[in-house]
Order: sequence, then structure tokens, then C-alpha cells
Amino acid sequence: MQKYIVGNWKMNGTSSDLQEISAIAALATQYPLVDIAICLPATLIARATASMPDFAIGGQDCHHEVSGAHTGCVSPPMLVDAGATLTIIGHSERRSDQYETNANICAKASAAHAAGLKSIVCVGETLAERDAGQALEIVLGQLEGSLPDDATADWLSVAYEPVWAIGTGRIPDESDVAEMHFAIRKQLISRFGSNGEMIRILYGGSMNGENASMLLAIPNVDGGLIGGASLTAVKFEPIIKAAA
Ligand code: PEP
Repeated sequence: MQKYIVGNWKMNGTSSDLQEISAIAALATQYPLVDIAICLPATLIARATASMPDFAIGGQDCHHEVSGAHTGCVSPPMLVDAGATLTIIGHSERRSDQYETNANICAKASAAHAAGLKSIVCVGETLAERDAGQALEIVLGQLEGSLPDDATADWLSVAYEPVWAIGTGRIPDESDVAEMHFAIRKQLISRFGSNGEMIRILYGGSMNGENASMLLAIPNVDGGLIGGASLTAVKFEPIIKAAA
């Protein structure tokens, strides 16, 4: 399975960053054995895809409806119209800041698929949940509720992102990542059969050039979702190199 390395720019980036995005896009040609994508703020997508039409550029969320009275929201067909080919859905920052539920996220993933977008659906436990010994139960519950019944490996990936590891510089023990990714794989296979074997499971949370080789070598870690270390080509490249 080819590794999938995806940058999440969150609420960062203006037109002055288009050159940096172009430097990241150039990495995709340098490392053809890695699938690379970058998920940008909605305001930058059309300009980035216009100048880099062959590079996979995505959004960071979408609405579950095609159009209508939803002030401030962006629909899947709008992302497609801007040139996006994928979107992140259910990032923990949206689950907490925008109160997104598993049902919302599942509807968004279906809507994204209907519009022709690939999706990366995020799951992950808080530190309190891990400390209480509930990490597996929480993550597997999110997975069950957030994935549509017709999910296939062609258009869906899962990102396991422990909330307490995002942007903190902390990462889980290798054995905890292995345990969680194995449990996710098992649930994907039990629900989706052979498709569940192929759905890529990304790890996210403070992945960087120093820890990427270790994290990406763990069984069932099929790539990474990267925030801070995806903001420049210089910081992103070592992660891609580790995946290659
Ligand atoms: C993320 O935003 O999904 C993420 C993993 O961020 P960071 O790499 O900065 O922890």
C-alpha cells in the first residue's frame, strides 16, 4: 500500500504563501512513490489548483448539503468547483469547536463522496479519555458512527489523531499507536470486508521529520496527517522522505 502523506494547513495561509504551496507540490514529482496532498483554507484552494492542477489539493471540511441557507459553509461541489480533490472531515478541532457529531461527520463524508471528493475522516481520544482507559472504546465508537456504510478504499481514509498529541509536540508510545491502528484495521475489516484491508489509516499528531520514520514503520500506519510540519516544504520533505 502506497503511503499517504497529507498536510493540514488549518487557518494558516494567504496569497503570499502560494509559492510555498508550489514548493510542496514540487515534492510530489520528486517522490512519486508517496501519495502527497495538502488541505488548504478554502480561500486559497482555487488559486492554488489553478497554478498546480496536477497536485492533490483539498479542503478541511465541507457541509453535508449541496447548497442553501448555511452562512459561512462550503459544500462539496463548491470544493470540486475550486479544483479540490479531497477534504478532511471531522477533525478534532471541528468536533470540539463546531460541536460536530459522528452523525454530522458521516453525512459530510457521504456528501463529499457524492460530489467526487476523497475524504479523510478523523478520529481520536482526549487525554482524559486515554487516562481513564477509554481510548479504544472512544475511537472505535467514533469510527463506527462517522463512516458511511458504503465506504471504500478508493475514496475514504481514516486518520487516527489523539487530541492530546495535536500541536503539542507529544506523541503516543509506539505500542499505543500499534494497538490503536490494529484495532481500527480490525473494525474496518469486520465492517467493510476486503475493502477494510485497503482503507488507509493515517496517524496524526505532532508528526515531524524526527519521528516520522518510527511512526510510519508501525504496522497499519499507512501515512500521516500533518499540521505544523506541513507549513513549509523544508519541514514537510523529511516526512515524505521517511514515507518513501
Ligand atoms: C493536525 O492538524 O491534524 C495535526 C496532526 O497537527 P500537528 O501535526 O501540528 O500536531
